[in-house]
Amino acid sequence: MLPLPVLEQAQKELICYGDSGMSVMEMSHRSPVYDEIIKAAEKDLRTLLNVPDNYKILFMQGGASGQFAAVPLNLLNGSGKADYIVSGQFSGKAFKEAKKYGDVVCAATSEEDNFCHVPATTKDSFRADADYVHMCFNNTIYGTKFDYIPDTGDIPLVADMSSCILSEPVDISKFGVIYAGAQKNMAPAGVTVVIIREDLIGKENALTPAVFSYKNTAENDSMYNTPPCYSIYMCGLVAKYLLSIGGLEEMKKLNEKKAKLLYDYLDSQDYYKAPVEPSSRSMMNVTFVTGDKDLDKKFAAEADAAGLKNLKGHRSVGGMRASIYNAMPYEGVEALVAFMKKFAEENKK
Ligand SMILES: *Cc1c(COP(=O)(O)O)cnc(C)c1O
Repeated sequence: MLPLPVLEQAQKELICYGDSGMSVMEMSHRSPVYDEIIKAAEKDLRTLLNVPDNYKILFMQGGASGQFAAVPLNLLNGSGKADYIVSGQFSGKAFKEAKKYGDVVCAATSEEDNFCHVPATTKDSFRADADYVHMCFNNTIYGTKFDYIPDTGDIPLVADMSSCILSEPVDISKFGVIYAGAQKNMAPAGVTVVIIREDLIGKENALTPAVFSYKNTAENDSMYNTPPCYSIYMCGLVAKYLLSIGGLEEMKKLNEKKAKLLYDYLDSQDYYKAPVEPSSRSMMNVTFVTGDKDLDKKFAAEADAAGLKNLKGHRSVGGMRASIYNAMPYEGVEALVAFMKKFAEENKK
């Protein structure tokens, strides 16, 4: 979902942006008016996320999946070793992609427990000479989130934050690189935001495609080639909107309140089961099952008909998943809980 005020503003400006005489979709990315749009988006994201001065924000393409390759291409060039924490589907894909490029190992995983919690790690979990450690902070499909930031000592920590970025404040200084595809919490698909500590720029493999090079992207202010202009514009509107409602502290309060309502209900009954261990629960993606595949199917179909959309779990895990990203209102979660109670009444096991 996107915040309604953001969609309304985009609608208002759709045909003619300001006095430019054209839509943002029609502008040259090199025009002064678009330059203001991209600079404002960068500045507002920086303020919102409290990004330190020695970090750059890059707008790239290729999605988070593109970063699965961009990260090793740009960073795996010291010892050629990288350590991956495999905590779910996307970190598994990132691991598999990175293995093409060097000595890449899985340092910790919770696969043996079907990813129902995040793996525990200590500094000793990682090879001291690794070029970086990679993690996925919020595991979208399994509905888990790290309740701690792994201690990697001096090794740069790289985090995929696609499904939790902007949901709460983060201490950026604990990370070397944070990346996120826009489409979960920031903007429509198209742009991938990369937040990178400056000293990590410029270490790339010579074969790195120019469009995936952090150095090239930074040197060209994310304008080496045509950026996903409209998606960046929307990202800017979302950042401005979040600042206007009090920033990420306020967003966190609302997200906690939404997640608590749903988890409290799940904990209060035994019709539905929440597979995730409480300490690893995601605030954005809440997974649950009835324990009966046919009932799960029926649940998703009837919920959809009742206006509660996208509740079917990912095709790889089944069950249900409520994605309650930033723009989902509290009332949306109330409606879901009411529906869950009604469904449980009407479909006794
Ligand atoms: C959705 C998602 C991805 C995949 O993003 P694309 O932009 O489609 O490549 C990767 N990582 C996480 C954590 C996600 O939630």
